[in-house]
Amino acid sequence: MPFMMIAIDGPAGAGKGTLARQLAHIYHLAHLDTGLLYRAVALKMSEGKEDLSDKDAALKIASGLKPADLKSPLLRDEEVGNIASQISTIPEVREVLLIFQRDFAKTIFPSKQGVILDGRDIGLVVLPEAPCKIYVTASPEIRAMRRLKELHEKGISGIYEAVLEDIKVRDARDETRKISPLRVADDAFILDTSELGIDEMVEKACLFVDSKYPKTSGLTSLSKE
Ligand code: C5P
Repeated sequence: MPFMMIAIDGPAGAGKGTLARQLAHIYHLAHLDTGLLYRAVALKMSEGKEDLSDKDAALKIASGLKPADLKSPLLRDEEVGNIASQISTIPEVREVLLIFQRDFAKTIFPSKQGVILDGRDIGLVVLPEAPCKIYVTASPEIRAMRRLKELHEKGISGIYEAVLEDIKVRDARDETRKISPLRVADDAFILDTSELGIDEMVEKACLFVDSKYPKTSGLTSLSKE
């Protein structure tokens, strides 16, 4: 079997996390949600009541990050995501987390066929050599609706306009930061999920993955599930 390497990128709420988890399952891949790294630094900064502009504190936390730090349920909090987006603009922090991500991608996981990483700069910066890159996107309005639904399911109330505004602010920060901004790699397959359900999204992605790794046929295994 070939050693697979899949890079998934896209803005918040486009469906890249869901897609990465499903592809990891279908193709037997070790999965790293790289947003969790930035969120883990953010959470420690906020728990330690650090000044968010304190680059040295952020760098120290990023350098000491352990896989166990990626497990806290608090990492998913909206506020932690916002702090993560600010922390992610610090070049030294990105540099340290880049090493963490590349180390993960180089690891041979005995029961797996390869790795899948999802984030903002995987295809362009972390794994530019990945043979299979997917850029998952959706309109800000659709992403805001999905986010609102998720919040309601967790019993948290939210206002559509506020969620939409938050998404736009986060997009703008991710797209305009000087280092590793959110961009589409030239060789990425662009998957717009605005009009797609989860099954259709996964099916389209599998078609692309299978075209890059002809011996894997994830689409066939999908139809058997
Ligand atoms: O994907 P998620 O919303 O968990 O990411 C949180 C924040 O971390 C993003 O808004 C982004 O600023 C940052 N991030 C990044 N590069 C990555 C993954 C996430 O800058 N590869």
